[in-house]
Amino acid sequence: MPHESRQEFKVTGGPALRCKGWRQEGLLRLLENVLAVGENPKDLVVYAALGKAARDWPSYRRIVETLRTMDESETLVVQSGKPIGLLRTHARAPIVVMANCNIVGQWANAETFYDLEQKGLICWGGLTAGDWQYIGSQGVIQGTYEILSRIAERHFGGSLAGRFVLTAGLGGMGGAQPLAGRMAGAAILCIEVDEARIVKRIENGYLDASAADLDIALGMIRQAQSSGRALSVGLCGNAAEIYPALVARGIVPDVVTDQTSAHDLLYGYVPPGLSLDAVRRLRSEDPKRLMAESRAAIVRHVEAMLAFRRAGAVVFDNGNLIRTQAREGGVADAFDIPIFTEAFLRPLFCRAIGPFRWIALSNDPADIAAIDDLVLALFPDNRIVTNWIRLARDAVPFEGLPARIAWLGHGERTALALAVNRMVAEGRLAGPVAFTRDHLDAGAMAHPNIMTERMRDGSDAIADWPLLNAMITCSSQADLVAIHSGGGGYAGYMTSAGVTLIADGTPAAEERLRLTLDNDTSLGVMRYADAGYDEAIDEASRKGIAHFPGGG
Ligand code: NAD
Repeated sequence: MPHESRQEFKVTGGPALRCKGWRQEGLLRLLENVLAVGENPKDLVVYAALGKAARDWPSYRRIVETLRTMDESETLVVQSGKPIGLLRTHARAPIVVMANCNIVGQWANAETFYDLEQKGLICWGGLTAGDWQYIGSQGVIQGTYEILSRIAERHFGGSLAGRFVLTAGLGGMGGAQPLAGRMAGAAILCIEVDEARIVKRIENGYLDASAADLDIALGMIRQAQSSGRALSVGLCGNAAEIYPALVARGIVPDVVTDQTSAHDLLYGYVPPGLSLDAVRRLRSEDPKRLMAESRAAIVRHVEAMLAFRRAGAVVFDNGNLIRTQAREGGVADAFDIPIFTEAFLRPLFCRAIGPFRWIALSNDPADIAAIDDLVLALFPDNRIVTNWIRLARDAVPFEGLPARIAWLGHGERTALALAVNRMVAEGRLAGPVAFTRDHLDAGAMAHPNIMTERMRDGSDAIADWPLLNAMITCSSQADLVAIHSGGGGYAGYMTSAGVTLIADGTPAAEERLRLTLDNDTSLGVMRYADAGYDEAIDEASRKGIAHFPGGG
């Protein structure tokens, strides 16, 4: 079978095992799933321009073959998407450990990354691509929805009905924006340079409609605003042209952000005036010119965002390094735009509340429906979660293996996972369930321009936390543990840790779930308590987390 055959990008469900146990089978199904729902699977690219599931096709095939044949008492070692070997460990050790794209500090820049990548020595795992945790655009949708909900509460009397949200980028993660906007009640306009992405988001139910030009798009948005109707509209165009054009017309949206792949000047951002084919050619023929044009366009893009801000719009950076790129291009006040984490989500992270995911390895949507019911029964007083589950079960279509994401905190994640493990044991679900979380989680990420910007104690750039996190989740018997650092334009900007668990209904899984999930979120609370956040100190004392204030 040729490797680019669509057949290889299908998910596997059902009760039949191809591996020696569910731990290995579960991870194999997740690997297949990230390609099935990924943006460019034939190049192994899952999302964020260059985030890959494996280094190359021989690596992919060797990983698959190893997962199928290895014992539970062995551990597969993966280095930047390439399987390096199999070590004899024991049945309580992880099935897979991986380190992706970690470059020594003084060398960690985009140019060195591209050079190492060209030589086939490294690949970038994104956050959830390289460790096989990506679940499609749903992976960030609650985060985007919560940000918009917080903005609604703070600035618009609790509702975005009748409000105009402007954004750009309808890729793997950005594709969540139109649905999150619609779920929050807004009229949201999404600028996307690649028509095929607009078509894909309409087909998978994340985007309502597309407009032929800017005037038509604005007309649709105005109509939705005046009737208070939620609507998402895609417009094929370049944000570096359309944002300034709106400024020139004096149009001020209520909320403005962006989720183009601005972090990567070569493989991500598309400057205006060039066809997509021309951009693809320039990547190898004249990368310096392409990077210079991308940077110049981002400068115009961010200057327009700043103009919207001065005119009264709520403007925020949604985690794509666009302010950093603009500042390097000379926009001195780019950081007047706040980052979403600090502005809206930090109080949640202080309590280790963050994006937690579960994936039905059976491929049966009824399993997710049963877990939705369980979540509502377990946490009836958690307003954020119950609101989200009720909305999501109606509004969020599945891509690949059925999955759900919900922002849960310390104790809640463990309670849910243990209850699900019992349901698997009692045969109340069609198969085992995988649990994972985003790397953008309390104790798992150092990212000074996104996750840890302006920490109260100035600890923004300290990467000890994700390293400690990975060691702790390994010690707690997780099934897969990964340490990632940034690649492409993110090189040198971040380090994070990922973790995956397979709830197969066994007592051993119960122990793995309890230890790993409790310790993962405990460390998250400790990280913020250590930085002096009152909410984290309160959470540690309320939940009995053994944090040592002041280290003494
Ligand atoms: P992607 O590469 O799949 O999609 C990016 C999209 O932007 C593409 O569809 C591309 O055609 C479009 N685009 C590029 N330049 C454009 C321009 N000038 N005008 C209009 N459209 C343009 O990436 P993704 O997975 O959607 O991620 C987008 C960005 O968000 C990345 O930088 C990623 O690292 C970041 N991200 C943030 C979070 C978060 O938690 N907030 C999570 C995941 C990803």
